[in-house]
Amino acid sequence: MKGREIDMKDNTEKFCAERASLEREVAIHKYIRALDAGDEEVIAAVLELAIHDSDLNHILCEIDTAFAEELNLIADLPKKRVMANILRRCQFDCVSPFEGSLFPLKEMVARGYFDSISGHDMRTAKIDLSNHAAEELLSVFMSATGFERTHTLPVLWKKTLTTRAVSTMDNHALAAWTMRVLRCAASQPPARPFNHRCLTKDFLIKVAQLSSKERGPVLAQEFLFEHGISLVIEPHLPRTHLDGAAIGLWAEHPVIGMTLRHDRIDNFWFCLLHEIAHLRLHFWNDEGSFVASEFYDDFDCEANDPREKQADVEAGEALIPEAEWCKDPVSVLPTPQAVTRLAKRLNIHPAIVAGRVRHRKGSYRVLTNMVGQGEVRSHFPDVAWKS
Ligand SMILES: [Zn+2]
Repeated sequence: MKGREIDMKDNTEKFCAERASLEREVAIHKYIRALDAGDEEVIAAVLELAIHDSDLNHILCEIDTAFAEELNLIADLPKKRVMANILRRCQFDCVSPFEGSLFPLKEMVARGYFDSISGHDMRTAKIDLSNHAAEELLSVFMSATGFERTHTLPVLWKKTLTTRAVSTMDNHALAAWTMRVLRCAASQPPARPFNHRCLTKDFLIKVAQLSSKERGPVLAQEFLFEHGISLVIEPHLPRTHLDGAAIGLWAEHPVIGMTLRHDRIDNFWFCLLHEIAHLRLHFWNDEGSFVASEFYDDFDCEANDPREKQADVEAGEALIPEAEWCKDPVSVLPTPQAVTRLAKRLNIHPAIVAGRVRHRKGSYRVLTNMVGQGEVRSHFPDVAWKS
């Protein structure tokens, strides 16, 4: 009897898998025909399906890339324009309808986001950021961001994007910040492609232990780069309330963006490990296929998404394993000496232990001069920090 049940289960699973594969094929054919015809409705419908089917999404990405390349070759301009609009709309689904004027353009200019204009040009009214000019400027900015590589974009699709943030998060500012981070990453790609198998728990511990070094943050950036991951430090834009993000659009080159909003050593290492944990846990499915997605984190907010909690736990374990924490005197009597002792034993920066004490106690008034306030940004002097 049991044998028959297993047979039936196997058959049902086989049937489901075959049906899924058939449906996927139909969707792919539809998609290619719709791309040729510029049929936006069908394209949108298939893209919707792909949100729940990572294999389909992967294939569509390849088709889009091939199609985008083809677009550069064909002389059919009206068709090209239709497709450019479709692709642009896909990119900005999260801020739909795409409104150039809603981007924080003045701030973007002031931060040097656009090569062609400077804050000086704007102040002297050499550039008008209204209406058409804004859209033009953003188009140039986007194409220089490396989006040509991934025309497809799950990028910035609302449904593949996870935010741990307040509801007042400004999506236009978030999109601008993301493009800036991607642009920086794309301009200096790592020499070696990323292999997600390198992201073991030991990898995370190794990063955590770099905190004990004097140039820790920079060493971590270099270490990640050697393994195909770009860590881009880019201050947050107004109304983004952002600490960090894990942006996985290119399987061979994931990107972590950090704002150093709080400029504290404990915050830097927790945020960094949390984003690496996202890369380790949430960008590859059980079959080992890459799932393009993005995670945006404001650590002043509670985590509701279970993946956020998983990344928190993984980061916490890499920095201070729970078992070590529980048996150490610092968990009971958190004196500065006890903090330093545990940090030394775990080969991590004392600020991380102090940060754990404050978080567990729910009190941010204790050990205030041990968390390395104002000691991270100085490691990245090339970033234009606001004074
Ligand atoms: Zn997160």
